Amino acid sequence: MSGRSDHGTVDAGQRYTEDQTGRKRPCILVSACLLGVSCRYNGKGELHEGVLRLGQEATLIPVCPEIYGGLATPRDPAERKGDQVLTDKGADVTAQYRKGAEAALHLARLSGCCCAVLKERSPSCGCGQIYDGTHTRTLIPGSGVTAELLLQHGIPVFGESETEQCQILYTEKCKIG
Ligand code: SF4
Repeated sequence: MSGRSDHGTVDAGQRYTEDQTGRKRPCILVSACLLGVSCRYNGKGELHEGVLRLGQEATLIPVCPEIYGGLATPRDPAERKGDQVLTDKGADVTAQYRKGAEAALHLARLSGCCCAVLKERSPSCGCGQIYDGTHTRTLIPGSGVTAELLLQHGIPVFGESETEQCQILYTEKCKIG
């Protein structure tokens, strides 16, 4: 059985963590930069209070697909261009992005994540809207490499501005609360 959300599909029978009182806590895959880890291309993090607050009810599993794919911090900014990911200097980093996406999917499965909250507009983590590959800050419909792979495997993905929808999903679909 599965439940459908606008952001993907979540299978029933998910695995949860339990806290010391026996309360179920859903596992959520989270972009590490949103928890303040300095892993962005510019060497900075982007702590988001709303995402951090999800940790009051859920077990947050941090991941940075670009680091897991073997890229350094800081690094040249990159954008998706069709099936490729290219830096602003024209270097092809598609393989690293794919490797990082596979690692994120593996971690999500390993941890039994019911969904993911990922950094909006990132060429890895963005869901629904990304930059167009011209490095001119032009947005187009589309998703980052990791967000796309998670969605393809039935893991709902939310952006940091959608934490309320994320709470609704794990409360209603994951039978928490
Ligand atoms: S790959 Fe994702 S987690 Fe890593 S810095 Fe970029 S947006 Fe943040």
